[in-house]
Amino acid sequence: PIEPWHIGGPVVKGFGRGSKVLGIPTANLSTEGYASLLSEHPSGVYFGWAGLSTRGVFKMVMSIGSNPYFNNTEKTIEPWLLHDFDEDFYGEELHLIIVGYIRPEANFSSLESLIERIHEDGRIAEEALELPLYSKYKDDSYLKIST
Ligand code: ADP
Ligand code: MG
Repeated sequence: PIEPWHIGGPVVKGFGRGSKVLGIPTANLSTEGYASLLSEHPSGVYFGWAGLSTRGVFKMVMSIGSNPYFNNTEKTIEPWLLHDFDEDFYGEELHLIIVGYIRPEANFSSLESLIERIHEDGRIAEEALELPLYSKYKDDSYLKIST
């Protein structure tokens, strides 16, 4: 188990690839001010809880890294909230508690294998977050954002 940590800010625009290319939307956070946090935590896939200012608390699975499949040069922080939303929420305040680590960042030989792996990560996160060890964090006050 890892020591839980948190990160938050408004949801920003990314490259728009999550939904369009992968069919998996990721609510990008700005990495500004998070250089030391990002260097402390290796690139990879994590899971935890996400609080959205006007919508509540949701399970999430998150990539931190440079997305080798897409050859990015900058690291991004990209949580996929495991919930179906009717609309986008760009600009909304999003707070994350990261409670677990799934795997290191990897490259993939095809888009299909990347998508398949992300869905697998999502299933792992779904299940793990039901365990008392991880589910208790959904009540953390950091996730209840008052505006
Ligand atoms: P971008 O590159 O701008 O991040 P994406 O294709 O990754 O674009 O889509 C992300 C956006 O989709 C989020 O910023 C959010 O407004 C919206 N969205 C809708 N449903 C979800 C979800 N389940 N998880 C994350 N973001 C979602
Ligand atoms: Mg995204």
